[in-house]
Amino acid sequence: MTASPARQSAWESALIQLEDAARRLELDEGLAEILATPRRSLTVSVPLTRDDGRVDVLQGYRVQHNLSRGPAKGGIRYHPSTDLDEVKALAMWMTWKCALIGIPYGGAKGGVTVDPRLLSLGELERMTRRYATEILPIIGPEKDIPAPDVGTDEQTMSWIMDTYSVQSGYTVTGVVTGKPVSLGGSQGRAGATSRGVMYATMAALREAGRDLRGARIAVQGFGKVGGLAAQFLHDAGCSVVAVSDVKGGVYNSRGLNPVALLRHIRAGAESVVGYPGTDPISNEELLELDVDVLVPAALEGVIHESNADQIRASFIVEGANGPTTPNADKVLDAKGVTVVPDILANAGGVAVSYFEWVQDLQAYWWTEDEVNDRLRRMMDTAYDEVSTLAATHDLSLRSAAQMIGVGRVADAHRTRGLYP
Ligand code: NAD
Repeated sequence: MTASPARQSAWESALIQLEDAARRLELDEGLAEILATPRRSLTVSVPLTRDDGRVDVLQGYRVQHNLSRGPAKGGIRYHPSTDLDEVKALAMWMTWKCALIGIPYGGAKGGVTVDPRLLSLGELERMTRRYATEILPIIGPEKDIPAPDVGTDEQTMSWIMDTYSVQSGYTVTGVVTGKPVSLGGSQGRAGATSRGVMYATMAALREAGRDLRGARIAVQGFGKVGGLAAQFLHDAGCSVVAVSDVKGGVYNSRGLNPVALLRHIRAGAESVVGYPGTDPISNEELLELDVDVLVPAALEGVIHESNADQIRASFIVEGANGPTTPNADKVLDAKGVTVVPDILANAGGVAVSYFEWVQDLQAYWWTEDEVNDRLRRMMDTAYDEVSTLAATHDLSLRSAAQMIGVGRVADAHRTRGLYP
């Protein structure tokens, strides 16, 4: 038996997507090389005293992919498979996303290779404060502004904000976004990525002349993004038939109640698996369900060359970053599946992070309606720009979105010039 070729990694995928955009934009080789290379990659060791007195030394990362349009922006991930290449890919995608959605940031990402579910609250706090201290020289409201990602949340951001502020000698709320509202967070930030996923789904269905009401939806990943995306889509009249998390999924052909499922998880359940009135389903089966819209909202690379042909959804709205590999994209394109790409579909999170940072810098707060209105306008504008370019040049939405994002960053480089 011959071994199947290795699946495209996140970093390989990001580079292939960049090459595609650079070729279409006819970027010169030197500029394409600059855009393919992270500006700064910091690897740090994070010693952690465990509750039993042992010391574990963990690996942490912060990558600033590009700073040409403003300070770097991007989340921090705690996950056992996080490594430097994954963080580099996620940082690059942040650069294109910020440019596409029209906010004045470059892209960054950070992470620690750790399973946060295996740490106590005290261990998590000590690890976060030490990691924050190690990356402190390169973060700050004018330099690089972290936010939550997989395995991190409002509490993580509060510890980072406090650690940075204690070292500075005064409170610096603008050093992170995704904070609790009580500490300078923004109204609407907690649900912003998911709300953006809903707006992107609405726009894609509207464009295809399809009805949102009654659309059958499957959501992979029932965390911060997937959980609320399921709820918002349900509230908008869709039928969410399946959701999953790392332990597996649940299915009900007549529709699940995401609000009740969220309550179940918030009450301390470890997984959606086993929720009453549902049938079990694996993560792999969920991706291949006969639904109108599939929302991958967990990790990258889950739709690849070996399962792309089995996808039966008409639309894939990428809540996660990088869930579809370039090889899978080719298969989906040939099948006529509309893929609303990550840098567009999940840009609502960084859009409202930008609103949070603006509010922090001005110490002046907006209402939730103001935040949601501005988010909706930003998402609709970006969707229209992408779909217009795609229609004019007969491109996939991903190629069009990448061209706009990469093109704006390339313009910034050309205009600033290469120093010295
Ligand atoms: P999270 O940690 O809150 O939730 C992740 C979910 O995925 C959990 O339900 C977890 O159980 C599940 N999961 C983990 N590993 C899995 C696996 N192997 N198979 C199936 N499910 C698995 O993370 P999140 O913040 O919701 O992020 C999810 C995705 O959305 C990531 O790709 C992230 O980069 C992207 N994203 C997040 C934000 C944000 O604001 N949080 C913004 C933009 C994009």
